[in-house]
Amino acid sequence: MEAEIVAIGTELLLGVTVDTNSAYLAQQLGTIGVPVRRVTLVRDDLAEIVTTLQDALGRVDLVICSGGLGPTGDDLTREAIAQATGRPLEFHQTLLDDIAARFAAFKRTMSDSNRQQAYVPQGAHIIRNPRGTAPAFVAEGGAAAEGRLIAALPGVPQELSYLTENALLPYLRDEHGLNEVLVVRELRVSGLTEADAGERIADIMLGENPVVGITAKRGQHTIRIAAKGEGREAAEALIEPLVELIRQRFGAYLLGEETVEQRVARLLAERGVKLALVETDLNAPVYRTLTETSAGKQALVHATIQPALAPENHDYPTLARSLAAEAAALKSDARLVLLIEPGEGSFKTVHLALGTADSPQIRYLARGFDWGLPQASDFVATAALELLRRWLEASGPDAAFEESEQPNRPA
Ligand code: AMP
Ligand code: MG
Repeated sequence: MEAEIVAIGTELLLGVTVDTNSAYLAQQLGTIGVPVRRVTLVRDDLAEIVTTLQDALGRVDLVICSGGLGPTGDDLTREAIAQATGRPLEFHQTLLDDIAARFAAFKRTMSDSNRQQAYVPQGAHIIRNPRGTAPAFVAEGGAAAEGRLIAALPGVPQELSYLTENALLPYLRDEHGLNEVLVVRELRVSGLTEADAGERIADIMLGENPVVGITAKRGQHTIRIAAKGEGREAAEALIEPLVELIRQRFGAYLLGEETVEQRVARLLAERGVKLALVETDLNAPVYRTLTETSAGKQALVHATIQPALAPENHDYPTLARSLAAEAAALKSDARLVLLIEPGEGSFKTVHLALGTADSPQIRYLARGFDWGLPQASDFVATAALELLRRWLEASGPDAAFEESEQPNRPA
C-alpha cells in the first residue's frame, strides 16, 4: 500500500505555519511499511480540497488529511471528504457529548459551531479525541475509489501525533493488515564531492527495495537506505549487504552514523590529544565547531584567532606550513592552521595545514570557498576537521587521502 498526505490550511500556503505534520506522518507511516508518494498543501477552499482528495484517491490506496477539522467556517475537511467520497455527513450524538464534556471539564461554554465537529462521513471509522475537540476518522473511498481509505486528523501537531500513534496506526495495522515496516538507515560520508559520492553508488541507487539516495549538507553527505520488510529484522537484513558494499566503495570516506565533528571530537577525547589552533577568520568556524562539544573544548589547549593577514604578498602555503610545524614547540600534539587568502569577488582560498608532534610531515590542503554563501563557514569547518580526521584515523599511508597542493579555485 502507498499513501499520499494532504495538508490543509491557508496558513501553510502563506508560509506562516510550516507543515511539520506531513514529515511526521511520513515517518510514522514508515513504521507500518507504507511509503508516502506525494504531499500536497492545499488552502481552505472547499472545491480545491475536494479535487485534491479525488486526485489523490485516484493514485493511492491511502490518503491522510491533516487540518481543517476545527469548528470554524474555514474548517472544511469533513465536508470535502463527504463530497470526494459521495458519503453524506452523519451526526453522532456521542461525539457531541465528548465535546460537551470537554468544555464542561474546562468550565467553558460550548458554542453552537462546535456541533459541526460531531459530523463524520457515513460509515466512517471514528477516532475519538481525548486531546482536543476535533474527532478524527477514517472514511472509505466511495464508488470511484472502492477499497481505498481516506483519514482525517486534526491539524494541531500534538493532537495529530497522539491520534496517529494511539489510534490510526493500530487501526491500519490491525484492521487493514499493514504489518510491514519501512526502515531507514543513514550513513554519512565526508571528504569527497557529492557528485563523486553519487557516482560510487549510481548502480545501487537504481534498486527498488532498498531505495538508496544521497543528500548533501554542509560539505558532508548522507546516504540513505530505506528498506521495506515483514518486520524490522527482515528490513535490516536487506540493508546490511548494502552497508557492506558502501563500506567497500567509500573506504576512509565513510563516517557511518557520526558527523565529521562528532567523529573528531570522539577521537580527540579517546586519544587525549592536545590541540592548538590558528585561524585568520574572526568568525572562527573551526573554533566554534570544536567548542560545541565538551570533548572538543577539552582537546583545545591553545587558540589564536586573528584578523586576515596584511594584504602584502604572503606566501600562504609556506606560512601555513611553518605555523603548523610549531606543534611540538607549543607543547601540543597537533597544530591546525587555517589561513584565508583574499581572492577575486567573494571567492577566497583557505590554506589548511596540520602539524603533529609525532611526525615531521605537515598535512597541507588548499580549497576555494564562496564567502557569499551563508554556509561558507560550515564548509570551511568541515574541510578543516576532515584534515584532522585524516591524521586521527591514519594507520599507515592511505591512498584515499592524497594531499592536494593546488588551490581548488573556481573556474
Ligand atoms: P486546524 O486543524 O486546521 O484548525 O489547525 C489547527 C492548528 O494546527 C493551527 O494552529 C495550525 O496552524 C496547525 N497546523 C495545521 N496544519 C498543520 C501542519 N500541516 N503542520 C503543522 N501545524 C499545522
Ligand atoms: Mg485550519
